[in-house]
Amino acid sequence: MAPSHPPAAPCIFCEIVAGRAPAHKVYEDEDTLAFLDLFPITRGHVLVIPKRHVDRLTDLREDEYADLFRTLATICRRAERLSMDYNVAVNQGTLAGQIVFHLHFHVIPRYNTPSPFATTPRTRIGDEEAQRVRAALGDAPG
Ligand code: AMP
Ligand code: ZN
Repeated sequence: MAPSHPPAAPCIFCEIVAGRAPAHKVYEDEDTLAFLDLFPITRGHVLVIPKRHVDRLTDLREDEYADLFRTLATICRRAERLSMDYNVAVNQGTLAGQIVFHLHFHVIPRYNTPSPFATTPRTRIGDEEAQRVRAALGDAPG
């Protein structure tokens, strides 16, 4: 599948990492950074990023997984200071709503308020469709 390409522009999150753009940082180490989303969906909406620019999760090197996941867990623990309920989300590609093409996890605390997410009606998957999807996503794609 062809990747969904980013717009050719300076990366705002790289600018934040470099200290050339402002951010409300909540955590930083050598390899990762977490800061408040500038347009929060809810109070405490945080973005967690690797400092090295990659567009997508699948562009990370394997040795980078642990650092990023550790920081994500740290931010999730801190989110629990605000609410034990929260969403962790990654948008990958334009059709999935990705606007900033520097990999980031959203951590979005949820409160006792209506869902901030649009919901799509869902129907139960049938056996034939499940077989087709498993053929595409399983170990040996057909
Ligand atoms: P996405 O749709 O997953 O690419 O999300 C990008 C997120 O980055 C959005 O939630 C924006 O509100 C947020 N954002 C964009 N620019 C900045 C910025 N300069 N500082 C903090 N958050 C930003
Ligand atoms: Zn970047």
